[in-house]
Amino acid sequence: MARVCVDASFHPFECIPSHSRAKIDFLPCKERIRLARDYNATVRIYSDLVRELLDVMELDLKVEVDLVHRACKTALENAQRARQQLINHEAEHHC
Ligand SMILES: [Zn+2]
Repeated sequence: MARVCVDASFHPFECIPSHSRAKIDFLPCKERIRLARDYNATVRIYSDLVRELLDVMELDLKVEVDLVHRACKTALENAQRARQQLINHEAEHHC
């Protein structure tokens, strides 16, 4: 029996493991794409913050450097979490 996504907002066929969906392989897994988009968005936020960190460092704005440094740490954690969610989905669904 095929497993389906916990998230009911996705069509079950889109998250059926690839080995169980030979006849419907033409459907890309929308959950995988959504997770990759989330990963991309979180990495962009992290990248923008690192750019901002460089800007405030160059201006020698000590308070801002500390604030942006903390924001970078949070953004990196979000990006790492998004990456792991994508990896976990791919491992579970073989999509
Ligand atoms: Zn999938």
